[in-house]
Amino acid sequence: MTAQEILNKAKSGGYALGAFNAGNVELVRAVVEAAKNQQAPVIIETSSREAQHFGMKNFLEVVDGFSQGTGLPILSNLDHGSGLEECQLAIKAGYNLVHFDGSELPYGENLKITKTIVDQAHQKGLLVEGEIDKILGSSAPHQEDAESVQASGNYTDPEKAADFVNQTGVDILAVFVGNLHGTYPQPPKLDLERLKIIVEKLPCFLSLHGGSGLSEEDIKQAIAIGKIVKINVNTELRVAYKETLENVLKGSEEVAIYKIMPPVIAAVQKVVEEKIQLFGSANKAVAPREEVSTTQP
Ligand SMILES: [Zn+2]
Repeated sequence: MTAQEILNKAKSGGYALGAFNAGNVELVRAVVEAAKNQQAPVIIETSSREAQHFGMKNFLEVVDGFSQGTGLPILSNLDHGSGLEECQLAIKAGYNLVHFDGSELPYGENLKITKTIVDQAHQKGLLVEGEIDKILGSSAPHQEDAESVQASGNYTDPEKAADFVNQTGVDILAVFVGNLHGTYPQPPKLDLERLKIIVEKLPCFLSLHGGSGLSEEDIKQAIAIGKIVKINVNTELRVAYKETLENVLKGSEEVAIYKIMPPVIAAVQKVVEEKIQLFGSANKAVAPREEVSTTQP
């Protein structure tokens, strides 16, 4: 199945794929193991900095290596690509999806660069995600009040979003409707009424960043509105990784990495599996012909 077909299937099936950040080998392994256990389609992604740490080619080869033989729809994504050059490198390297984040640029410039990336990506059959209103926060635990962070940004304007999607031809729009990157003492509340208007006005898929900090109820309601097919999760994976690694190393004399890492991978895998269930994508990795055979009398 192509990326377009995988996302179309999610849209019509009323579920979203988790987009899980994986900045090293153990994280990729944890996501693939979780996808296997849950028989779920997933997106594995690197942010700009994670791609620099891992190496784009290395990342894609590790994803391929772990995915082989699973038969699962597993897509790769460059998350918050920082500019034209980096997105072009990702297209060349062979990512399935490329997210260009031009939200800090003047609107006209964002529009122009996004359109260039869309044209180049579509020639190779890849999908592009755009962003116009900056999704605030960062992929870490935050102590400040979510409401004060939300108040410092501009929520996605439905009219402007429709203009952007029509002019650029992006396949996915990353919306800002109160969703913040990171976790907060109280989960940020989503503006679901605004999301409904955006969903009505836009022809494309939508993504919801900030999947770590949101309440389960808001996530379920957002998916139910329709068109959100990709939910990004990073912070909770990072926290599970770091806390487990600290616990494993505490008072331990162990130096063999292959003995140190399995509980770390298991902890991240657990978080990923919980998110897959929450997003409704468990058991959705069935091949189309198998589905047909089960619906026949
Ligand atoms: Zn994001």
